[in-house]
Amino acid sequence: MQSAGTTYTGRFAPSPTGPLHAGSLVAALASWLDARAHGGRWLVRMEDVDTPRCVPGMEQVILKQLADCGLTPDEPPVWQSQRTGLYQQALDQLVARGLAYACACSRKDIEAALARLGRTTVRHGELVYPGTCRTGLQGRQGRAWRLRTDVSASFGANPAVSPASTAIDSIASKGDLIHWVDRRLGPQQQDVQAEVGDFVLKRADGLFAYQLAVVVDDAAQGITDVVRGEDLVDNTARQILLQQCLGLPTPRYLHTPLVLGANGEKLSKQSGAQALDTTDPLAALNAAAGVLGLPERTGGMGEVLGKWVGDWGLSPTHAPCPSLQSCP
Ligand SMILES: [Zn+2]
Repeated sequence: MQSAGTTYTGRFAPSPTGPLHAGSLVAALASWLDARAHGGRWLVRMEDVDTPRCVPGMEQVILKQLADCGLTPDEPPVWQSQRTGLYQQALDQLVARGLAYACACSRKDIEAALARLGRTTVRHGELVYPGTCRTGLQGRQGRAWRLRTDVSASFGANPAVSPASTAIDSIASKGDLIHWVDRRLGPQQQDVQAEVGDFVLKRADGLFAYQLAVVVDDAAQGITDVVRGEDLVDNTARQILLQQCLGLPTPRYLHTPLVLGANGEKLSKQSGAQALDTTDPLAALNAAAGVLGLPERTGGMGEVLGKWVGDWGLSPTHAPCPSLQSCP
């Protein structure tokens, strides 16, 4: 957590895989309002680390959609695809400290290993990696890099001999569960090793994984407050574990309500959600504000946004920042 006096810095971090939809505007508006209500900075980061999924030119479409709605970042946006050197440095640091390792397993190998163990755990279509390559590649060729999520168990017993004893101690002291408090959802916890397993930091195709890029960028940009859609809540424990392994601060988290489509499913680019229509930005903003529990407002766009900044602290969709006194 931040010490008193740290300048509030928030961010909106879309993936340029498609235009913003009504649900993305909720997250963008919430992060902008929270930054403004704290007198802080608001940044935009293009999460284009998964380059094959990105659509050329989509960044400009997204920035225009935001600008149409009066949401302009305080600094020029950054692009993750231009920051791979930072991600490699972080991975090198984890490898040097024994916290990350090369993995030679294909999906078939992982399925076979899980079958031998009598485990069939699947999480959001992802297999829980059983740790096959933790003890080495046995002559096989490494394909991807994974984080050790068993650090407290494997190093806690003998931290004195580990070069990473400081990092390991602080992780071990928290036990096997990662605990955190979401400003809207309250106390959360996850056993990352059991529920997710040793997750990928750098993929077999050479691309860095979203989890590592986000953690490195949030720290590099001095992000104090992550305000994003609830569809990302499940990533938070993995990101906190990575922050601890890298010795980075943990921001405060607020996950905003999702917008559901007519079928009751959350809106997403994957499910073909319609692009946000910004020909009437005030209508789009009022719809997003409604999801956040803010009153409908009329007037000029700047005036309306300013009123919502005032409303924000009273919104029922989130608790005030837990240490509001220490917020600037
Ligand atoms: Zn492996």
